[in-house]
Amino acid sequence: EPESISDLLDRLSAIVPDYPAEGISFKDLTPVFADPAGLRRIVDEVIAPFAGQFDVIAGLEARGFVMAAAAAYATGTGMITIRKAGKLPRPVHRDEYTLEYGTGTLELHRDDVAPGTRVLILDDVLATGGTVGSAARLLEKVGAKVVGVGVVLELAGLGGREKLAGLKVHSLQLV
Ligand code: AMP
Repeated sequence: EPESISDLLDRLSAIVPDYPAEGISFKDLTPVFADPAGLRRIVDEVIAPFAGQFDVIAGLEARGFVMAAAAAYATGTGMITIRKAGKLPRPVHRDEYTLEYGTGTLELHRDDVAPGTRVLILDDVLATGGTVGSAARLLEKVGAKVVGVGVVLELAGLGGREKLAGLKVHSLQLV
């Protein structure tokens, strides 16, 4: 019998207590990325509900890049990099958002996505939803249509899904 995605994630995810700060339980998916079956399973299952609905995949720096590049290659689409401040070399749109402590800033090249493009956003973990919400605002600024959000893990009790009301969010496991 094939292993369920939840069993695979339970077996391969590394939970790191008190990282990067006391009280945070960090979900480290790098062992899932490193596993040949694991990488393929998470990518295939994260994008499955959105089949045929997107023109391009946006990955959020940095672990979202792993998912988005693999998914774009698998589906024959392109990939967009939404990056932390100061990394993109050409003119950008910038969006500042609130983190659990302090603020973060994401940027998107102004001409990387044409107006009307249907975009799927991918990241590894949905926590408060601040990061994905910021990415969605950047994509809206360039006139793109965000068709959905795919993540591997969704952290319960942080309100991420509620914050993204109006967006279709697909997660593989609620933890
Ligand atoms: P948020 O903006 O609060 O939804 O946080 C999501 C971003 O921070 C994602 O890019 C995650 O990779 C990362 N993140 C937040 N909390 C965790 C956690 N407990 N474990 C792993 N990654 C996290």
